[in-house]
Order: sequence, then structure tokens, then C-alpha cells
Amino acid sequence: MKTQNKSRLRLAVQKSGRLSQECFELLRQCGLNATPSKTALFYRVSNFPLDLLMVRDDDIPSLVREGICDAGILGEDKYREEGLNGREEPDLPLFKRLGLATCRLCFAVPKESGIEEVSQLNQTRIATSFPGITSKYLKGLGVEAEMVKMEGSVELAPRLGIAEAISDLVSTGATLEANGMKVLQEIFSSEAIVVINPTLQENESSTYQEKFEILNRLGTRIDGVLKARDSKYIMLHAPADKVQNICDLLPGIESPTTIPLPGKPGTVALHAVCKENLFWETMEALKGIGASAMLVLPIEKMMD
Ligand code: AMP
Repeated sequence: MKTQNKSRLRLAVQKSGRLSQECFELLRQCGLNATPSKTALFYRVSNFPLDLLMVRDDDIPSLVREGICDAGILGEDKYREEGLNGREEPDLPLFKRLGLATCRLCFAVPKESGIEEVSQLNQTRIATSFPGITSKYLKGLGVEAEMVKMEGSVELAPRLGIAEAISDLVSTGATLEANGMKVLQEIFSSEAIVVINPTLQENESSTYQEKFEILNRLGTRIDGVLKARDSKYIMLHAPADKVQNICDLLPGIESPTTIPLPGKPGTVALHAVCKENLFWETMEALKGIGASAMLVLPIEKMMD
């Protein structure tokens, strides 16, 4: 089955789970009316040419690969695992990293296991939902281990005596701690990503060009939201001869604007976007070299 609607982009998203909420929040911050009910499986965004298909994340790669959806948002962990299924490398083009739902795929072992390094996993059993990624990684290190495939509650495997170690996603580390386990080594860090059907980039027909344009419009909005999320707008008053020293203290500052202050010769107002968060220590240092009336504001959107 091929995508029917030629002028709308069809995006597969996770129906529920960690990534789902953050993903819908991002789409809303991009200005989209994206508030489907919990039971909806298909949702037509009313103010953007986008249709959302709410599915299980395991299904997203194949829906995108087969062209039923034009693009999909999913965890990089799922993408890599599914992509290795019978392949050397994942095959879907990566359109964008979203920096959401960040976590690490790690080897973990019971604290009292005596296992301190990955080489000690040789000839052990490893419980995981990611046998493809895990065995590929171990093979690279020359370690032979048996993969015990589990879909959930992987942390229970050592206690149940079905594995000596696990390879699982770790976010806060609370689940490992609650199960008396510790991280042995990180395999890779994962985040939410957007993957696309290759036809979108390759096919020159107007239908696919239109869809690709819609995708790029959405991509620009996503960039704007992500950039704004990490940036701050700062306004302050400063002695004119200290502007350079002040700029040196501001992290990731770009093209500050300085405005003379009427009635205050030798003093300027300085406005700038900082690409990182501003810590109290920086504000104190700024005050120390003469800055005053400092305001730090969040930024909602950015577009170059
Ligand atoms: P935590 O206790 O915060 O370290 O979370 C660990 C548990 O949540 C494990 O059961 C993981 O499989 C699961 N988990 C952590 N991060 C993610 C993620 N980004 N996506 C899906 N499951 C996750």
C-alpha cells in the first residue's frame, strides 16, 4: 500500500510511552494543532499539511520503509535494533535528531556479581530487548555471549537465574538501583530521531517534492524550537567601555545589540541571545564588572 494523500505528509509517532508525550509537546511548540485523544490511531492536523499515525514504536521503521508513512519519530535505539535485522547497518535515512527522550543503552550486572569489565561477559548470558546492537558491539570486542531476548522487565533476569548480565536502556538509573544492579559500560546514547522514506529525497515527481517541502518546513520549525529551548535572551545595562569584557563572559553569545541610554552618558543597554543557560555565577561575575539591571528571559521560537 502506498501513501494515498499526495499533498499531506504522513508521520508515524509512538502511540504511548516515554517518547510519545515529549513528541506531541514538540509538535505543539511547532505551532501544530496536535492534541489527539488517547484512543485515536489517526489524527489530521488542522493547521498544517500533516497526518499523524499513532502506532507501536516497533512498527515505525517498517511503516516508513514500505512508504505507508513518509516519516516517523522513534527512539534511536529501536531504529538501530530494527535496522540491524538481517542488515549490516540501519537503512532508513536519518532526517533529524530531536534531543528528546535521551537515554543510554548499557550493560548492567548485579552489584555483587564480581563482574567489573565487559571482557568478563565472555561465555555469559545477557538478557536484552536489543540483541542485534548488543551482540554486534560484543563481537567488535571479541566477546562471545548468548543473547536472551526479553521484551520487558529485563532487570529481573539475573534474579530469575536466566542471565548473568543485562543490556538495557538507562535513563535516571533508578530501576537498576531498585534491582540491586550497576552499570558496567555504556554501549551508546540514544535520543528521539526522525527517519524518512528514501523516496522522499530521491523521487523527483511533484508529489514527493511537495511532501519533502512539507517535511523541511516542519524541520525548520523543529530546529527553531530546539534552538530556543537551549537559548536565553539577556538584557542588561553596562559601562560602554566594559561591553567586550561582558561579552567574553556570556556563553555562546552572538552579535549583541548595544543601545546608548539617554541621560546616562558612558552607559549602554546590551541585548543578546546566549546559546546556553546562564548560571547565577555568571550573573554575579557580570555584576562584578559593572553590569546592572540584568534580565534573563526564555525564548519561545527562533528562525534565522
Ligand atoms: P530509569 O529507571 O529512569 O533508568 O529507566 C529505566 C527503565 O526505563 C528501563 O526499564 C528501560 O527499559 C526504560 N527506559 C529508559 N529510558 C527509556 C527510553 N528512552 N525509551 C524507552 N524505555 C526507556
